[in-house]
Amino acid sequence: RAKESGRDTYRFFSADMQARSLRVLQIENALRSALVLGQLTLHYQPQIRLRDRQLVGVEGLLRWTHPELGSVSPAEFIPVAESSGQILGMGEWVLRTALAQARQWRDAGCTELVVAVNLSMVQFRHPGLVDVVSRALADSGVPPQMLELELTEGIAMDAPEQVIAIVQQLYDLGVQLSIDDFGTGYSSFSYIQRLKVHKLKIDQSFVRHLGDDPSAPHIVRAIIGLAQSLGLETIAEGVETAAQRDVLLGLGCDTGQGYYFSRPMPAADLDGLLAPNHAVLG
Ligand code: C2E
Ligand code: MG
Ligand code: MG
Ligand code: MG
Repeated sequence: RAKESGRDTYRFFSADMQARSLRVLQIENALRSALVLGQLTLHYQPQIRLRDRQLVGVEGLLRWTHPELGSVSPAEFIPVAESSGQILGMGEWVLRTALAQARQWRDAGCTELVVAVNLSMVQFRHPGLVDVVSRALADSGVPPQMLELELTEGIAMDAPEQVIAIVQQLYDLGVQLSIDDFGTGYSSFSYIQRLKVHKLKIDQSFVRHLGDDPSAPHIVRAIIGLAQSLGLETIAEGVETAAQRDVLLGLGCDTGQGYYFSRPMPAADLDGLLAPNHAVLG
């Protein structure tokens, strides 16, 4: 009997794994032509300075719609693109697209806006990264301080000395650097202290229960305290309610990003928000 159920279990997992790898292969194949077919777009989500509710930045987020697969979440296709290496070309496209957009906004008078893009760990480990960023910046004519690169806390996992050196080279380009999803990784205080970055992005898992769980503010307060003692800015991700915004403001968080203020949207939809003295979100 045990043997039988063992076999059933095996069959169950095997079928599941087959379905999974089929999906991964489908995605990998479809991604090959996604860029040239114009299926990838970049949406932008506003970042709001909490004390005066001004729009100070936007984060570029990839969107992919495939004719048969439909709309596929970056949480699903980014890991596939990372393991196939496709993330390198895709990441450079994101960078150049965001910079071209930044150039337009700057030419329209938004000189203070910061445009952030996510950097995958695979891009980060690629030896050409600093050159790719500096060439893209030069080609765009966008001042470096208008670009922000979001690093994942996972870059801390190995080769710390090498990581610290690359972060320093990016810092020296004059771009803004932030650590995304902060608090979900394993970085130590002493490691963070040695990384030359400007901002910590507080992961949305810590923001979610602010305002309804009395113990939730403690972690967020600790992260903000860490950031302040290192002279770093803080931005909270996943702000969905006015109550969360209020707690964050009270804790001294600088900036917020989330559905409460706005969902990610196409660049054209942001133009109204970027007009001088216009719309205050949240
Ligand atoms: P992330 O960089 O941490 O981006 C934040 C994610 O939270 C985005 O999901 C955003 O749409 C979502 N979000 C924003 N506000 C809220 C909110 O109030 N509530 C909730 N529940 N979610 C909110 P998205 O766009 O699905 O992206 C998922 C992840 O995929 C990103 O997480 C990032 O790690 C990755 N990603 C997206 N675009 C790129 C890209 O161009 N390059 C790389 N390497 N990764 C990307
Ligand atoms: Mg991000
Ligand atoms: Mg994040
Ligand atoms: Mg994330």
